[in-house]
Amino acid sequence: MLPRNDVWKNALSNAVRDPAELLTLLALPRELLPAARRAAAAFPLRVPRGYLRQIEKGNPNDPLLRQVLPLGEELLTVEGFNRDPVGDGAATARPGLLHKYRGRVLLTLTGGCAIHCRYCFRRHFPYGEENPGRDGWQGVIDYLQHHPEVEELILSGGDPLLLDTPQLQRLSDKLRGVPHLKRLRLHSRLPLVLPERIDDELLTWLAALPWQRVVVTHANHAHELGEAQGAALTALKHAGVTLLNQSVLLRGVNDSVDTLHQLSERLFSHGVLPYYLHQLDRVSGAAHFEVSDERARALHRALQTTLPGYLVPRLVREVAGEKSKLPL
Ligand code: SF4
Repeated sequence: MLPRNDVWKNALSNAVRDPAELLTLLALPRELLPAARRAAAAFPLRVPRGYLRQIEKGNPNDPLLRQVLPLGEELLTVEGFNRDPVGDGAATARPGLLHKYRGRVLLTLTGGCAIHCRYCFRRHFPYGEENPGRDGWQGVIDYLQHHPEVEELILSGGDPLLLDTPQLQRLSDKLRGVPHLKRLRLHSRLPLVLPERIDDELLTWLAALPWQRVVVTHANHAHELGEAQGAALTALKHAGVTLLNQSVLLRGVNDSVDTLHQLSERLFSHGVLPYYLHQLDRVSGAAHFEVSDERARALHRALQTTLPGYLVPRLVREVAGEKSKLPL
């Protein structure tokens, strides 16, 4: 039985934000606290409690913990790492609307996320200025109406599923005025980090949309896919959603053939196709997660020998100014 509407809002507001509480709940050494506080001052800590329960207590190297625990390494300046590594600023067509690739545009609905991933390439993105808000949606619709080549709208963020369903409904009502739109794609971590969000109200909205629906989840490790996440993904599938996953290759999280293999297997067992394995975007604060291109290629080649082709995600990198993601 999936939870009732609004349960997710409580889970969201109860997320852990204090590094000291995180360390206590996970029985981790207090020595980690000063650095965690310094790094969290630059990019705050945020972890839903359900996600915390999937982390092994007392293990500072847990692969899920590493994605959320602020570390002193984030404050180092490393050559080649900058604040806007994928060129979002240059691709902004309207506030919140990025038009990078032919045929599809990306709309940032909110700067908020349910979880703060320490490697996030948007950790410095000026969401306050670049979020259109509901007042700006008409500008977005006008833009789409004047660009008949755009057949797919990607809702992103932050996390687009942080808008509640009535807000999403208002947006989709406006989008019905764009006759050439074929697909609506949502990029969201919520099916995995706040599965309560996949409630009946959302599923009803999704099922009634007139376009093909795609949800791209963002799992980096098989441990992120437990029972509640499996139920949420199955429910999305039953609502007619195509499910894809993108991961980021992260040192200390998923940089082994076994881990990537298990991730693909677990995803597919829940009806999700592994789509992309991204090389890390070189955002300042995330250098300690980087895996060299040579190692990434070797891992990918080895993965190809252990899985059928359709379970091997494409290894890619996003390069500012390029017309598509680039295979490595
Ligand atoms: S959920 Fe996505 S946008 Fe939000 S912090 Fe994590 S990686 Fe970044």
